[in-house]
Amino acid sequence: MKYDPITKEDVTKMSVTPNLLNYKKAREDFRWEDIVRELDGFDDGGLNIAYEAIDRHIKTPIKNKVALYWEGKDGETEEYTFLDLQRLSNRFANVLKGLGVRKGDRIFTFGDRIPEIYISLLGGLKIGGVIGPLFSAFGPDAVKDRLGDCEARVLVTTAKLAGKVKEIVEDLPALETIIIVNRGNVPYELGNREVSYEALMNQASDALDIEKTDKEDYAIIHYTSGTTGKPKGVVHAHQAVVGHYATAKYVLDLQPEDIYWCTADPGWVTGTSYGIFGPWSNGISQVVYEGGFRASNWYRVIEKYRVTVWYSAPTAIRMLMKAGTEVVEKYDLASLRYLASVGEPLNPEAIFWGNKAFGLSFHDNWWQTETGCIQIANYPVQDIRPGSMGRSFPGVTAAILDDKCEKELPPGEEGHLVLRAGWPSMFRTYWNKQELYDSMFNNGWYITGDRATMDMDGYFWFVGRADDVINTAGHLVGPFEVESALVEHPAVAEAGVIGIPDPLAMEVVKAFVSLKDGYEPSDELMRDIKKFARKKLHAVACPRKIEFLPGLPKTKSGKIMRRLLKARELGLPEGDTSTLEE
Ligand code: ATP
Ligand code: MG
Repeated sequence: MKYDPITKEDVTKMSVTPNLLNYKKAREDFRWEDIVRELDGFDDGGLNIAYEAIDRHIKTPIKNKVALYWEGKDGETEEYTFLDLQRLSNRFANVLKGLGVRKGDRIFTFGDRIPEIYISLLGGLKIGGVIGPLFSAFGPDAVKDRLGDCEARVLVTTAKLAGKVKEIVEDLPALETIIIVNRGNVPYELGNREVSYEALMNQASDALDIEKTDKEDYAIIHYTSGTTGKPKGVVHAHQAVVGHYATAKYVLDLQPEDIYWCTADPGWVTGTSYGIFGPWSNGISQVVYEGGFRASNWYRVIEKYRVTVWYSAPTAIRMLMKAGTEVVEKYDLASLRYLASVGEPLNPEAIFWGNKAFGLSFHDNWWQTETGCIQIANYPVQDIRPGSMGRSFPGVTAAILDDKCEKELPPGEEGHLVLRAGWPSMFRTYWNKQELYDSMFNNGWYITGDRATMDMDGYFWFVGRADDVINTAGHLVGPFEVESALVEHPAVAEAGVIGIPDPLAMEVVKAFVSLKDGYEPSDELMRDIKKFARKKLHAVACPRKIEFLPGLPKTKSGKIMRRLLKARELGLPEGDTSTLEE
């Protein structure tokens, strides 16, 4: 199903000149070496992400600019300039040195979005450590699996979360030190292997010689979202910052005057690539809001901080849609100039709603933990083709390959989405899973595991994850297309689509839907949704069965877990559920 393009004049505020003015020319001229030259680097060709994000600005007027506007769960606020962050992260680096932590050691954080987590991650990079941020809602086992997998030596956590860590500490022999942040100084007695963040920071020096890391030294481990199976430890090198910087500049279009807000948690790759390194390496002020999702709170944050560029995710947008446009109208959101989205396919309905609610379009972009930075995107200077992820980033070559991942397919044909290996933020390994890593490459292509098509103009259209594509009556049906059609029905808030076995058709389409407030499940509504789907979709793609659920199972990063819908439907084991949102 195709929709009319949305012209850029309609939905992009051209109040500033975009950083990327001409896509075709940008592609022709693009050289990663030129981007490297925009960064500082070290004299010997080395690079350190934290240096590029923070310290290099200290020689410039950006030094006194606010890097971080922080708002806590309970409304408390703090501001940190680039200089503040430089000093504090230096201090934390010295704390680590004092504890005997060395280059290459794994340093993890497990906490809410509080400044200390950001400071710890930067400090960890400054000593050449390999940082691993974990999401605070993880249970003890999820933390144990990840710390155990990569033998983390240090964990930074909070007094509030320390109880979860105590349950697993005996199973983590490599974990030497647990640094406890105690905001608000609640009564807390330090236990085995535990030290106080505040006490150590008070004694540490602001002065530091940053470790002169090589661009290929490991810097970050991110565990994937676990949407399709057990999360993998994706490893990135310091030169990933070249990708963070370039894409934050040309895709998110970050400009000196912007106040930027990325709603993702650093526990997921979006929250570091674009919640830490992308904006700060560009010297941009950003907002971090510790609180969770609530439509009214989110709009209040935009209004209060005069947010100009907002980067979020389809699942959040669908929740905003559910809350309705009346809430939007209560706030002054005129500061917004550019909206972007990542993480899941962005249903055209969500774009149309954004246009109505904000007078701006969400610009979809596609990437993965493995790719480290945005690979395919809609840019401010281009019309949006609703349902398309956009075009490959200049400097990135994307293509569609046949089922054997050997031959390139012509425009319009569906196949494996692949990327020409070698961009700076490409992952360097899966921790402890080198064989799996090697198996993801063929003939110089990285095989993403997603299926898509490309049109004549180089726009990519997501079909589904290779694991989720449904084989019915001789046709391959991607869940995205069906889900997008279903969420256009006025009663449907969210839809998750799977294939279930069928003796005749091999598989048939089954849809799980959750309803918007004010609608109740009924046979009549089910018939109406089926009828609606028949008008929108090819006959084989129409759901044969629809089941109403109060909500869909999702990862904590907000992705619909189709594999869980399927396992539950077929009575199969659920597999790893460490990232399941409760
Ligand atoms: P796992 O690899 O553990 O199953 P995951 O793939 O969900 O988890 P991430 O790296 O966080 O982990 O997500 C990347 C995936 O998210 C992509 O491969 C793709 O399937 C999906 N995705 C991200 N952005 C988009 C987008 N704009 N449109 C469609 N799908 C997207
Ligand atoms: Mg994946």
